Amino acid sequence: MAGLYIHIPFCKQACSYCDFYFVTRKSLIEPFTDSLIDEIQSYANTPLSDEVIETIYIGGGTPSQLSSKQLKRIFDAVDNVFQLNTTEVTMEMNPDDVTPGYLHSLLDLGVNRASMGVQSFDEEILQFMHRAHTKKEALQALENLHKAGFPTYTADLIYGNPGQTPEMLERDIDQLLQFDPPHISAYSLTVEPQTRLGKQVQLGRIKPPEDESVAEHFDLLLEKLSSAGIYQYEVSNFSKPGKEAVHNSNYWNHKNYLGLGPAAHSFWWTEDGAKRWENQPDIKHYLDRASSISDEPEELSLQTLAEERLMLGLRTKWGVGSGELINRYGYQFNESQKNWLDYQERNGMLTITDDVVRLTPNGLKLADLLIVDLLSKG
Ligand code: SF4
Repeated sequence: MAGLYIHIPFCKQACSYCDFYFVTRKSLIEPFTDSLIDEIQSYANTPLSDEVIETIYIGGGTPSQLSSKQLKRIFDAVDNVFQLNTTEVTMEMNPDDVTPGYLHSLLDLGVNRASMGVQSFDEEILQFMHRAHTKKEALQALENLHKAGFPTYTADLIYGNPGQTPEMLERDIDQLLQFDPPHISAYSLTVEPQTRLGKQVQLGRIKPPEDESVAEHFDLLLEKLSSAGIYQYEVSNFSKPGKEAVHNSNYWNHKNYLGLGPAAHSFWWTEDGAKRWENQPDIKHYLDRASSISDEPEELSLQTLAEERLMLGLRTKWGVGSGELINRYGYQFNESQKNWLDYQERNGMLTITDDVVRLTPNGLKLADLLIVDLLSKG
């Protein structure tokens, strides 16, 4: 079973913090759809189209910039080329794009999980982020999702914004919880150097919040969501039991996935490891279709894969089993790592049950530091 990721690189405007690959020229959407369909068809009768597709994730950019007609052409092409037995078909969308009619057409196409880019309901924060939607549109979009009867959905929130007080964040969380969401992805604002926000920070015009205040935001989020029955299952992901994202969980679990569209990544197992490749983040090149659109694949050894699996798996509530590490990657913890694991278990940062290492809630707060520490002893 494999996953399919489709990158739709169009956005209405550039959010100040965003470093994803996107363009704002709407006139390119139709030619892009043609190129994407060509790329999909290029996989017909290849080994990559032999494996059954379990999940599809349409991300971006803003996939809801495409009309339902354009999306239907893409879905038809996927259906013609790949063997589909999908349990989860997710599409990212922005609140200002979704009318009730549009949502119904997505359901008709087979999208069964919406990912709504809410980020905040606070007008000042939305403006600071340079989001294209208002608080009213965010509330309306969530209302529309409920009315349309989406089987499940997730909403994104960003905390740790400059000037955001815990009370402001609490209002954001409460407004989202009114809708009883099955899943929430919550990220602390990250300052990427090449973004508008990054430049403003470099110029000293904006001061990012202190780590302590971001940690306070996170504690508040964790407490409010768990009281509402929405539990952390990955560093940035929270869900009601059984509503965890399958597609993303498969990334963390090293299942095969094929990425389509500019800047999309792919991962595929080979006989002696795996390979990963990226489609070039270049819409002009993608539209030209003149030569190969992807870079040379990177060969990944079992050692690299084992370390990556530890990095991804320890960020989740499922953790990583030492049996899995041995069977799948031939990787065993050495004495120094075993001692470190015992020490961190006594320290309350992780548990080891039936040979599965899992970070505790306290450990998850320091996941990246702990994982680097463990790997550095390998
Ligand atoms: S809508 Fe999403 S992808 Fe587009 S600029 Fe904003 S954050 Fe980035």
